[in-house]
Amino acid sequence: MLPADCNCSQHIDRRKFLTRTLAGTLAAASIMSIDLASAAESKSSIKVTTDPGKRKFMEEATRLAIESVEKGWGGPFGAVIVKDGEIIGRGQNRVLLTGIPVFHAEITAIMDASARLNPKALLGSDYGAGTILEMIPREAGSPDPVSERARMLKGCEIYINGAPCPMCMSAIYWARIDHVYFAASLKDTSKIGFDDAFQYEDFAKPWDERRIAVTPNFERDVGLKAYDAWMAKKDRHPY
Ligand SMILES: [Zn+2]
Repeated sequence: MLPADCNCSQHIDRRKFLTRTLAGTLAAASIMSIDLASAAESKSSIKVTTDPGKRKFMEEATRLAIESVEKGWGGPFGAVIVKDGEIIGRGQNRVLLTGIPVFHAEITAIMDASARLNPKALLGSDYGAGTILEMIPREAGSPDPVSERARMLKGCEIYINGAPCPMCMSAIYWARIDHVYFAASLKDTSKIGFDDAFQYEDFAKPWDERRIAVTPNFERDVGLKAYDAWMAKKDRHPY
């Protein structure tokens, strides 16, 4: 693992690159069901024992959120990712600053932590010949048809000052984060004018009932050519 405050030029360059390409790398991150939204809401009413060891992480996530508000960078949302009791990634909402609608705190925290954890640098590497990701075998008894997956942020926790929107919750799944701690509920978030709760409901509906027009199976034969290219690649890396 790289030190959390690694500032060697290689990693600085990589973080810059990742920040620049934020919008492009996240376009696919959103699939959630209403069940999860309900579960998130109902869990928020369960009394959680205060843990001074973990409270400081929520305080840091909140500090990032307030900074974003005070500087006019974005909404009041911050996140930190923790591994072995140490913060390895920070993120804050910067939608107003960047004009990028997916610049959410959880997403940037995941990108920050991932850039630190992955042992090889993206820029200047020969990653085109393989992957920079650390692969780990599937867990015993797992129904996963693939024998190994990328570690991503397995072993990490994320602390968010407000309930994750569906895009961010989906990103958390992709990142394989073990545990989500969030403070304010979806209802709290709606009260201050950020309505993403409807997205959880929309995902549970059939394609033709969504709020955004979706045309499934459009020119399917064209799109499948990329899948064929993937399956034909002998050294492909499942992740
Ligand atoms: Zn989000």
